[in-house]
Amino acid sequence: MTSFVTRFAPSPTGGLHLGHAFAALCASDAAKAAGGRFLLRIEDIDTERCKPEYEAAIFQDLEWLGLEWEEPVRRQSEHLDDYTRALSQLQDNGLVYRCFRTRKEVLAEIASAPHLAPQGPEGPAFTSTPLAPSRERRLLEDGRPYAWRLSMAACQGHLGSMFDTLGWREETLGAPHTQRRQTARPDLFGDVVIARKDAGTSYHLAAVHDDALQDITHIVRGIDLRPAAGLHRLLQTLLSYPEPVYRHHPLLAGPDGKRYAKRDRSVTLRLLRETGHEPGDIRRLIGAHAARGDMIESPPVHA
Ligand code: GLU
Repeated sequence: MTSFVTRFAPSPTGGLHLGHAFAALCASDAAKAAGGRFLLRIEDIDTERCKPEYEAAIFQDLEWLGLEWEEPVRRQSEHLDDYTRALSQLQDNGLVYRCFRTRKEVLAEIASAPHLAPQGPEGPAFTSTPLAPSRERRLLEDGRPYAWRLSMAACQGHLGSMFDTLGWREETLGAPHTQRRQTARPDLFGDVVIARKDAGTSYHLAAVHDDALQDITHIVRGIDLRPAAGLHRLLQTLLSYPEPVYRHHPLLAGPDGKRYAKRDRSVTLRLLRETGHEPGDIRRLIGAHAARGDMIESPPVHA
């Protein structure tokens, strides 16, 4: 049995850039070095922002880079029922509640009591309580849309002292891969949205579910997602999923010193290809970044 399975899980919301190439190569190289398996997963639950042409471009770009992945590729939009089932486990245990607030209302509530909303990895942490059943019934009858939030207080009650001892095994990216235990702080996310109004799931729930389903043993991804590992360990524990090992790679910094993002059109893989670059040049470009120290080594602070 292979003991190393990892994945690259892009969202088709735009062209892949140099930062994506680095992430994909980190995961694929790790699988190769371990004699393991490398999967590609399309994280396209956001039907507004994800486009088939971006997905097609992901395949093209990664093929051009010389990556090989196993078929079939899992496309999350085709498995929404899976995530609904995972959500129902959380519902059955009373760990989630419906939130009818608009984003504006949430922000206004946070602004009115900022001391109660510490800055979390995804913005100010929002915490609330379920509505009274009669009020909730009325809103449901009115057809008001709602998201499901994970109640940190309920999770704490459910797991007891285990909640405070949650952690993960963090492994160094480079060999020898030494491991150390990291403390999970899922509470910093507040009552995080676990099923969005529009999608019926969230990145967190879908990714954790798929990592378990696809037997991912090693999660190799960007340092910006390091705090998310704490939340993911909570979800894995609540849903009785296995515990993977995590390796977080630094992020490539663009000319402005900030991480590469979709705004950096100048470095999309497509444009680099069209302007005569070869796949080997991409590795060299990434290597040059590393040599210059254009790397973000600690999680960027979220606004
Ligand atoms: N779709 C996520 C992203 O593009 C993947 C994160 C992960 O590897 O879990 O950021």
